[in-house]
Amino acid sequence: MPLLGRGDPNLAGKHRTSQPLPAASNRVELSFMSRAEEYRTNAMSEVSSVGRSAGMRSIMRAGQDVQPVCGNVTCRNSWTFPWKSRTRPIFEERWACSSRCLLAMVEAAIAREAGDGRRDGVEIQHQHRVPLGLVMLANGWITHPQLQRALEAQKSEGIGRIGDWLVSECGLESEVVTRGLSVQWGCPMLTTEGFSPQAMAMALPKIFIEKFGILPLRLAGTKILYVGFEDHLDASSAFAVEQMSGLRTESGIVVADRFIEARERLLGCQFARMTECKVADRDTMVKAIATVIEQRQTVASRLVRLRQFYWLRAWTGGGRYLRGGNLPARAQDAADYLFTVGT
Ligand SMILES: [Zn+2]
Repeated sequence: MPLLGRGDPNLAGKHRTSQPLPAASNRVELSFMSRAEEYRTNAMSEVSSVGRSAGMRSIMRAGQDVQPVCGNVTCRNSWTFPWKSRTRPIFEERWACSSRCLLAMVEAAIAREAGDGRRDGVEIQHQHRVPLGLVMLANGWITHPQLQRALEAQKSEGIGRIGDWLVSECGLESEVVTRGLSVQWGCPMLTTEGFSPQAMAMALPKIFIEKFGILPLRLAGTKILYVGFEDHLDASSAFAVEQMSGLRTESGIVVADRFIEARERLLGCQFARMTECKVADRDTMVKAIATVIEQRQTVASRLVRLRQFYWLRAWTGGGRYLRGGNLPARAQDAADYLFTVGT
C-alpha cells in the first residue's frame, strides 16, 4: 500500500474535502470515511432545516426586528411564565422561551444522543482488523523470524503490545510500528508539529484524554482539527469532539514517544471547569441539564454523548462564541458537565 504523503496532514484533508478517495487501497478506510461523511451530511441538513423552520415562524413586520422564536417545536407561546430575556439561554443554537420549553428541548436532545446507534456501528466495524504483525509482515517491514521472536517474547512475558516487543526485541524503529498501525487502522500518521497544548485543552474534558486516548493536536485553518491516537483509533471520541466543536476532525496515529510527551504537556494545561454528575435516571438528567442551562444563562450550549457520558458544554458569555466551529479561547469561557445515568 503506498504510504507516500501519508504523514502530510494537508494531503489527508484534501482527500476528504475535494477529491474522491482512491478506489483501491484500504476497504476499512473507505467504509469508515463514508460513514463519517454520512453523519456530517445528516447533521448539517438537520441544522439547516431547523434554521429554515425557525425563519418561517419568525414574525417580521415593517420597521421591526425579527423576533426570536422559541426552539421548542411544540411551543405554544402561551405559557404562564415566559422568560423576559429574548437572547438567553441558548441551547444548541436555539433560544428557549421558558423553563417548560427548555425541558422539552433538552429531552429531545437526550433522546437523539441516547438513540444514536450509528456511532456504535462504527465501533463494531473497527473490531475486526488484520493483526499488526501480519500487516507489517505483508508490507515487508519485518521478517517472519522477527515476528516469531516478538510473539514468543509477548507470550512468555504475558504482557505488552506486539509493536513494543518488535522495538525492544528486534530493534525495529518505533516509526515503522506507527506506520504499521496507520495501515492497520486505515488512517494517516500525524506529527506533533504545531502542537499547542493550551489551545487544545479547550477541545474536550480531561477525562476523555485519560479514558479514550484521544489527543487533540492542532487546528488546520479554521475548520479542521487534527486528533491523534497512540495505537488505535477511537472514532467515537473523535466524533464527539467534532460534534461539540463544529470542527471537522481528522484522526491519525502518532509515534508513541511523541504521543506520550505531547499528552503529558496537554494534561498539565488548564481545562474548562468540569463537573461530574451521576443521576438516577433519564428524567432526572433532563431536569439537571435544563437547570444548568437556565441558571448559567448560556449564550451557547450543546449536548453530546460519548459512550456512558452525556457531555454538556455551557458557554456563559465571557468570551466569543463562533457559531459552527470553534474552541473556547480561554478555560473560563466554557464549563463542562458530564452526566452519567445509573450507578
Ligand atoms: Zn417556548
